[in-house]
Amino acid sequence: MISKDSIDRIFDAARIEEVVSDFVQLKKRGVNYIGLCPFHNEKTPSFNVNPVRNIYKCFGCGKGGNAVNFVMEHEQYSYPEALRYLAKKYSIELEETAPDPEQQIIQDEKESLFALNSFAQKTFSEYLWDTEEGRAIGLSYFKERGFTEETIRKFQLGYNPTGWTVFTDHAIKSGYQHQFLEQTGLSILQDSGKRFDRFRGRVMFPIHNLSGRVIGFGGRVLKKEEKTAKYVNSPESPVYHKSQSLYGIYYARKAIVLRDNCFLVEGYTDVLALQQAGIENVVSSSGTSLTVEQIRLIQRYSKNITVLYDGDPAGIKASLRGIDLILEEGMNVKVALFPDGDDPDSFSRKHSHSEVVDFIAANAKDFVVFKTSLLLSEVQNDPVRKAMLIRDVVETIARIPDPIIRSTYLKQCSSMMEIGEQVLINELNKIRKNWLKKDLPQHDIEELLPETLLAPQQVTESTSETQEQNIIRLLLNFGLFQLHFHHEVDPESNNEKYQEYFIKVGRYIVDEIKHDGIIFENPLFQRIIDEYAGLMENDPEVDPVTFLHSDAPEIRAIAVELLSSRYLLSDNWEKMHRITVPREELVLKEAVEHSVFHLKNKKIMKMIEENQRALKEVQENGGDYTELLKKHQQLEELKMEISKMLGIDVLR
Ligand SMILES: [Zn+2]
Repeated sequence: MISKDSIDRIFDAARIEEVVSDFVQLKKRGVNYIGLCPFHNEKTPSFNVNPVRNIYKCFGCGKGGNAVNFVMEHEQYSYPEALRYLAKKYSIELEETAPDPEQQIIQDEKESLFALNSFAQKTFSEYLWDTEEGRAIGLSYFKERGFTEETIRKFQLGYNPTGWTVFTDHAIKSGYQHQFLEQTGLSILQDSGKRFDRFRGRVMFPIHNLSGRVIGFGGRVLKKEEKTAKYVNSPESPVYHKSQSLYGIYYARKAIVLRDNCFLVEGYTDVLALQQAGIENVVSSSGTSLTVEQIRLIQRYSKNITVLYDGDPAGIKASLRGIDLILEEGMNVKVALFPDGDDPDSFSRKHSHSEVVDFIAANAKDFVVFKTSLLLSEVQNDPVRKAMLIRDVVETIARIPDPIIRSTYLKQCSSMMEIGEQVLINELNKIRKNWLKKDLPQHDIEELLPETLLAPQQVTESTSETQEQNIIRLLLNFGLFQLHFHHEVDPESNNEKYQEYFIKVGRYIVDEIKHDGIIFENPLFQRIIDEYAGLMENDPEVDPVTFLHSDAPEIRAIAVELLSSRYLLSDNWEKMHRITVPREELVLKEAVEHSVFHLKNKKIMKMIEENQRALKEVQENGGDYTELLKKHQQLEELKMEISKMLGIDVLR
């Protein structure tokens, strides 16, 4: 456990704007700073950093908190890991008492693996620079490939000698344990009990996480040997998850934010060559096909990806599926093809920085268009293959979450393929409907099929005035009464177990109504809500009975009528339940909550009906209705949630 005193010192020292700006580019705006939110996709900044209160808040996705929260969220650190990170940043010495044993073992294991990886990286660099074999084989290879000493040092490249156990022996002699050598994969244990270097005779590319620690290695063999893969990577370990790491991300992240674009290349040397050419917003998924986790890692910095290919058609076709994944995450994908025989590595060695930049800019094609024309060139006049092409292209378009972008692509591809747009829309509806079905719980499937959905629906009672009136009545009568809320706090955060707070009835009602953007059907009720919200701005203690003296006679009339029933609530309660109410406060809270949820329930029901009408219309006109299907699903979920709050059966 980290001592309370140390934690206090960290919180005192950590300036939110300094902590955040290691990961996000911030611009001064008044007393605050703003930037593009690292937690959700956005083009215009809604991520706010407030140095006075020492907190951040995103008005887009709602994430917010202090410096520790930010590091936890951004780096996926645990609470103690985040504290250690900040302590290091601000050179604060931590007082730590022994944590519980289980936690200690996990923490120790991870730390030991990090420590060993860091030792290995330094050792491999020493072998590269300071041994004859390293210089003759490793260093000369890197230099032949055109890498400068500066690049080799910056990326901490290294060399593992050809002797079978050179590194393993050195690590053991330096006090590192067998267990960790095997877990990091730096050594391989044979059945005979002998250990040898996994990466012997290879040049080494350390792989870093977002905060720059070495989590694994890629090693390239230099001698032609039988049965040896050209590249070997570290195996999965508690600190290295292939599917969640990207080679070069530590060196690229700031540039990705700055350029609002990420170049995706295939190999380690492609990353290094582009970096050396001054193009820093570049990463590689080295050794794995692209995963959703890797895409989301990029997405934290930019919504735009440009995939850089060498001109090999087989390689391109193999990677098309991976790019569908990028589209599915709502990102914009472009593709740039290097001329025949060149990959990003060789091309950037032959050309200047600006030539490379210009080439990519001039040749980057929109992915959907690129894929369509690529496949189209193979179809010729074969109708069967053309049908497959249509399906293939529409399946790609169907993955794009934004319906407007989908429709733009459908138009574009319809003219490229010389196919009626309606044919493509029908295909798209078919595909997306099937996907939606897969995502939904069994009992909802029937309901989502348009045939059932479009059956005559029972129309909800047309107005919600009864519910609205009840809310206004409670507001006028009990506006200044306190409601007592308490709930347990997430046990993972080290905060107190219970959180208690009081909210006045008036405040609660106004917040709930305004927060969900609910507009009352009765304009007079709406006016009372609005006016009371305004009055509270100046005086939180303002009593709603003041509406009895309103200048507007129609408002006055409502106040008189509703205020004359002041004690109706508790009387009713006693009659209905034949009990004496012990504390009016308890009843009041339930009454207020229920009145609000009843109104919300009513609004949701109406939205569902309206959505169904819209759905029917779009379907009859042959449009893309899948977005409305999804909305229907979301509304149904909301309805369920509200029903749970109200403790009533689902109204169907
Ligand atoms: Zn956000």
